[in-house]
Amino acid sequence: MVAEIISGKELAQKLREDMKVEVDRLREAHIVPHLTVVLVGDDPASRSYVRGKEKASRETGISSDVIELPTSTTEEDLLKTIHQLNEDENVHGILVQLPLPDHIREQLVIETISPDKDVDGFHPISIGRMMTGQDTFLPCTPHGIIQMLKSKNISMTGKHAVIIGRSNIVGKPVGQLLLNEHATVTYCHSKTKDLKALTTQADILIAAVGKPNVIKADHIKEGAAVIDVGVNRLENGKLTGDVDFEAVKEKASYITPVPGGVGPMTITMLLKNTIKAAEGLD
Ligand code: NAP
Repeated sequence: MVAEIISGKELAQKLREDMKVEVDRLREAHIVPHLTVVLVGDDPASRSYVRGKEKASRETGISSDVIELPTSTTEEDLLKTIHQLNEDENVHGILVQLPLPDHIREQLVIETISPDKDVDGFHPISIGRMMTGQDTFLPCTPHGIIQMLKSKNISMTGKHAVIIGRSNIVGKPVGQLLLNEHATVTYCHSKTKDLKALTTQADILIAAVGKPNVIKADHIKEGAAVIDVGVNRLENGKLTGDVDFEAVKEKASYITPVPGGVGPMTITMLLKNTIKAAEGLD
């Protein structure tokens, strides 16, 4: 079997076209969806992610701005900035680019963003709403993964979904969303005893490890749908996922590439959340 490739790049493009129409409709009603990104410090990777978010917003008709603060910014000053944005009715979505400098408590910052403007979906209220199936901002990467599966009509009901990784931003929430879609979910992590025994049972395998090519063909059940969340930069500068793409594609039914897979969908779901914030939660 040779896997069909799920191109996040193509799906993202299609969804963004639909979003443009939605944004135009809002603009006609004099609502201009606005995203404010707060960037603290000068980490080059963060800066590049922020640029990507700005560009994607602009292309979709969403207005955006970036508040750049120096690394020396105090926690108190950052919280003050967030409070001001919470109060600003022209700002619909607030995103504080992570990671933050060590002297700033990340969780406190996340919890200071108004849940009505929490377009990253990291606030405990958003997470609780997601767990209890209420309308909320879903975390972008996990939501993008579900959209990718749906785009190929891959049924999740009753399927065994195995997730490798249990981070708060990817592993845990993607498991919850798969459960909401009626999958049977198994989480694996670095302390899992026999990883292969579990991954070879997966109808849907999500790799969110952050180690290049650790998932090989012998981790995969014939015909599985494999979603590679990992983004790893090799010594030669090339980007690669967690999955040994060339070998696994011979065995899986669907596979996502890196780059051009989950990445573009993450930004697209951020745009979706910003539009949702402008429309207001139910
Ligand atoms: P993370 O917080 O470092 O979590 C990695 C997870 O993998 C942890 O739960 C860890 O287990 C587990 N793990 C590590 N080594 C393992 C092994 N040998 N066997 C089984 N499990 C193992 O990373 P993350 O933030 O979830 O991100 C994961 C990857 O996705 C990274 O490459 C990141 O760059 C990428 N990412 C991509 C996007 C995108 O939009 N494309 C978005 C977010 C993240 P423990 O919990 O036991 O330590």
